[in-house]
Amino acid sequence: YNAKKQVGNTVFFNSQMQTEELERLRLEVDLQQAIQQQHLHLNYQPIVCLNTNKLMGFEALVRWQHQERGWVSPGQFIPLAEQTGLIIPLGEWVLTEVCRQMKLWEQELVNVWPLSVAVNLSGVQLTQPNLVSFIENLCHNNCSNMIYFKLEVTESVLMKNGELAIETLRKLRNKGIQICIDDFGTGYSSLAYLHLLPIDTVKIDRSFVNQMTVDARNLDIVETIIALAHRLDLNVVAEGVESQAQQDILRNLHCEYGQGYFFARPLHPQTIITWIANWELRKELGNIEKKVDW
Ligand code: C2E
Ligand code: MG
Ligand code: MG
Ligand code: MG
Repeated sequence: YNAKKQVGNTVFFNSQMQTEELERLRLEVDLQQAIQQQHLHLNYQPIVCLNTNKLMGFEALVRWQHQERGWVSPGQFIPLAEQTGLIIPLGEWVLTEVCRQMKLWEQELVNVWPLSVAVNLSGVQLTQPNLVSFIENLCHNNCSNMIYFKLEVTESVLMKNGELAIETLRKLRNKGIQICIDDFGTGYSSLAYLHLLPIDTVKIDRSFVNQMTVDARNLDIVETIIALAHRLDLNVVAEGVESQAQQDILRNLHCEYGQGYFFARPLHPQTIITWIANWELRKELGNIEKKVDW
């Protein structure tokens, strides 16, 4: 940024940069406050078995309702949190909150329990020396069910942070935590590298899933990823399933799990019980075929 500023030779360029920088700083201060004052919260998006429609678990997705700006998308504030180091307290809050929620659900959702909850992890978190002990203590103090806890990391995180990140994941996995590769297909990792990673699940990026019904090449990609994952004894979650047609294709390709608006949007925890009740009812009536908005 500084270099650019020095190179910039018009007032307009400088002032625009300053405005952007100021805006970023403001957002940073606000985010710091939001973390401290617990103005963040989590939504949970269901992940279902594509064959039986059984609910398997959720992915926890962080939300920030800013006092003046309204909803700020995680696509905007997660990168900021990563750049500023705020991802560490934010990430710790997310993990803590998920543990608290799981403990509640263990009581409330006895009919469908056990369910797994997947948490997104940033590269910065993976290079923190105390991540393993933090998660270990958290599980030890709060939830008895470490095996229902999953962590999602993107391929690019693994590529960028190399051996250190992989070693951390290996330790976590040895403790019984399942590791998912998120947004698979969008990064740069070679398929041949996959078997070296300490992972259990591949999540196919939603761009491929979404396009596979209109573009044969995307269907090929999805098919190849699923076949490869299965050869390596990994299970597969398809992200961004938005239609019955997509579910049918994926099911025929033996993809185990699906996540997407066709099943549910990310849900506020208070609406989860109702969603589950509706979902179970629909399963019984056998009419999940229709696309419904919850
Ligand atoms: P992600 O982990 O790949 O999460 C899936 C994203 O896809 C979510 O966006 C979700 O709302 C969206 N999605 C799910 N189903 C559909 C669908 O059928 N169609 C479409 N078009 N979109 C769908 P969201 O919640 O905006 O999250 C964006 C990203 O922010 C996440 O991508 C994840 O990388 C990051 N993120 C969210 N929460 C956290 C967190 O607690 N920690 C970290 N480090 N990153 C997070
Ligand atoms: Mg994810
Ligand atoms: Mg994803
Ligand atoms: Mg994604």
